[in-house]
Amino acid sequence: MKIAMIGTGYVGLVSGVCFSDFGHDVVCVDKDPGKIDRLTRGEVPIYEPGLDELMAKNVEAGRLTFTLDLKDALAEADAVFIAVGTPTRRGDGHADLTYVMAAAEEIARTADHYVVVVTKSTVPVGTNRKVAQTIRKANPELEFDVASNPEFLREGAAIDDFMRPDRVVVGVQTDKAAEVMAEIYRPLFLRDFPIITTDLESAEMIKYAANAFLATKITFINEIAALCEKVGADVKEVSKGMGLDGRIGNKFLHAGPGYGGSCFPKDTKALARIGQEHAAPMSIVETVIKVNEDVKRRMIDKLLDLCDGSFNGKSVAVLGVTFKPNTDDMRDAPALTIVPALVGGGAKVKVVDPQGRHEGEKLLPGVSWVEDPYKAARNADLVVILTEWNEFRGLDLKKIAKHMTTPRLADLRNIYGQKDAKRAGFEAYVSIGRRPVE
Ligand code: NAD
Repeated sequence: MKIAMIGTGYVGLVSGVCFSDFGHDVVCVDKDPGKIDRLTRGEVPIYEPGLDELMAKNVEAGRLTFTLDLKDALAEADAVFIAVGTPTRRGDGHADLTYVMAAAEEIARTADHYVVVVTKSTVPVGTNRKVAQTIRKANPELEFDVASNPEFLREGAAIDDFMRPDRVVVGVQTDKAAEVMAEIYRPLFLRDFPIITTDLESAEMIKYAANAFLATKITFINEIAALCEKVGADVKEVSKGMGLDGRIGNKFLHAGPGYGGSCFPKDTKALARIGQEHAAPMSIVETVIKVNEDVKRRMIDKLLDLCDGSFNGKSVAVLGVTFKPNTDDMRDAPALTIVPALVGGGAKVKVVDPQGRHEGEKLLPGVSWVEDPYKAARNADLVVILTEWNEFRGLDLKKIAKHMTTPRLADLRNIYGQKDAKRAGFEAYVSIGRRPVE
């Protein structure tokens, strides 16, 4: 199969590379000349474990190329994937479809043969039909079908998720489009990964329902964590006890500083908006959005308590700012709420993150960046663990505490325990969903 992939971000690039590894000929297009320049030189513009090797292998094999020109990519393509951003539209929470519709118009202007136009971006129910209308209007002669193929990969584990998915979801209107999609995903089908072929609307809905459910699960345990702190229970024990129930499952039950990232915040808002527009309110999801904001604010209160009520003049080391480990993605990370509160309150903040610096420098003004957690903690009044990178899981807490001015630790990912902190010489330790040391 010949595939054109529009957008070389976290989803487009991983999908393009993996499709080429399936044996398809893939041309990736982006309108950002900087990205295409780097990709053509063999550099991966994002941090995603294993992506550089897999990309190099498929470029070398002649199955994967990059271009700024959609015409090159569309020549003889059987399918063109739209994998551009769908951020929250300013003001109303709706998904901003500007980039998707612009891509649809470009396809209409450029394509000259039958092609399946596949939307991989997360888009509200009805968008695939709008994509079809847009193309038909701009190029009434063109023969094409649309297909919805939402993506479920997780940043940090994207290649494995793409190659070994829990399921692939495909929404189509015609048998012809279904055949093309089946051929594209044949390597997965042959290895018995479930492929759900359904209508456009159900496919679009599955993606939002799945993400909203996961965001709800995280938010549920975060709210339980707040109650654990009041009643003296330990949320880690509670999650374990709940998660072993096969009906519940142990994933997405880790209490933390609130969900963030490029998907959950915007997709929950978009689903709430879709519900309002169709007079079918998504009350649970609306509450989840609100509670997640409360969770982040509660983190700031915890830090304030540890700083005796004021950040002013305090020296704070922040370990981790990306929204989760193994990515450089900072979109909607809890750090974007918590770090500005520290800086705004007058704290001197040193940040260390294995991959977040490049993005973080643009998004977190007023902080200084250091390479190593021990340097960051030297002479600090408070250390805050915000992202559970492996680098922060085995810290020599004694060494950290020894060189701090006032050894205090806010472990917002529950990596350590109160006993570890006390033994290492910390005078104060707070975590999530566990009562502070008396
Ligand atoms: P991204 O912002 O990382 O990448 C989007 C890319 O598209 C950019 O490189 C941009 O320059 C390019 N682009 C935009 N318009 C273009 C055009 N007309 N022609 C060519 N290139 C164009 O976005 P992302 O994180 O990869 O997300 C893409 C979509 O996938 C979103 O809808 C998102 O919700 C969804 N999604 C993301 C993830 C994730 O983990 N990031 C997971 C599942 C689904």
